[in-house]
Amino acid sequence: HLHLSPPAPFVFQPNRDSMTDTAATLAPSATLPRSSLDLIGATPLVEVTHFDTGPCRLFLKLESQNPGGSIKDRVARSMIDAAEKEGLIKPGSTLVEATAGNTGLALTLVGAQRGYKVVLVVPDKMSQEKIFALKALGARVVMTRSDVGVGHPEYYQDMAQRLASEIPGAWYVNQFGNPNNPKAHETGTGPELWSQLKGRIDAVVCGVGSGGTLTGLTRFFRQKSPRVKMVLADPAGSVLADYVAHGYIKEAGSWLVEGIGEDFIPPICDLTGVREAYTVPDAESFAAARELLRKEGIMGGSSTGTLLAAALRYCRTRTKPEHVVTFVCDHGNRYLSKMYNDFWMADQGFLPKDVRGDLRDIIG
Ligand code: PMP
Repeated sequence: HLHLSPPAPFVFQPNRDSMTDTAATLAPSATLPRSSLDLIGATPLVEVTHFDTGPCRLFLKLESQNPGGSIKDRVARSMIDAAEKEGLIKPGSTLVEATAGNTGLALTLVGAQRGYKVVLVVPDKMSQEKIFALKALGARVVMTRSDVGVGHPEYYQDMAQRLASEIPGAWYVNQFGNPNNPKAHETGTGPELWSQLKGRIDAVVCGVGSGGTLTGLTRFFRQKSPRVKMVLADPAGSVLADYVAHGYIKEAGSWLVEGIGEDFIPPICDLTGVREAYTVPDAESFAAARELLRKEGIMGGSSTGTLLAAALRYCRTRTKPEHVVTFVCDHGNRYLSKMYNDFWMADQGFLPKDVRGDLRDIIG
């Protein structure tokens, strides 16, 4: 104890008792995330245990736990990384995109940290919370009509493409045609699922917005284990489920679920691996998402309701046990004024009008 020679230079050892380290001595560690971008991906998988899943086990991958709150963080990082590598953008460039909100949030989150301006064209049916969040993150938001289709100058994708050609130094991200969108799922989401379930996966239930998730996972599983079935969950009104079932594109209707369902087949979207497709009405999607919150304490967005509803239908119609996976695509806090609001639900005809505040269950 009388050994008083000067202490050896500090070397950070991860197994040292961290309570003895001060901010001054804590060296950067490869094991600690160094920005919110390092928190993208590696999302948890949780089993659904309070629903009737027939003979199956159903698992949810919580993409809501990405830093931007949705599955789109993976894709934004992948598309920006690739565009930088290809020399299409450099700090100061403007990223332009057509987005329901989540891709925009993700692009803005990643873009801000990498020095990009972000301009987003958003259809006006999207929730207020998403628009507020986009603005808070620093995006320039251009609202456009939700009620026009491909080829119309106010259609959100045509408008984004035009803006990108008009703004100097702008790049049209184009998630619908960008191969680095599905690639994020082929190299990230797919391998994560595989290792989380130790390869014991029988079916994956996906929605299609851009088709990135479905296409990337189809490619991953085709190569890794072709027996894994890809199952499509599609909102009623979207053209995709009918296209899978009958091979033609019908006229699109409208739906209130956000982020999935299409009136066209996106160029990057590969539907050839889809083995079953379910059409889910808005009422069933919203009910499923609300039930997920009540029963499992998991607050997903409206597309999560569609995926869960389709996954439950799939599970309940199996005759043998299967491991089925689906996604909580984004966080439900973006839908507090809509799907999680009883008055909005009543206005839309999804709940009875005679709602007596929060006491209806108690008063009767
Ligand atoms: N759910 C939500 C809430 C989304 O925003 C999106 C992306 N539009 C998806 C699901 C579908 O993802 P993808 O674009 O990979 O088809």
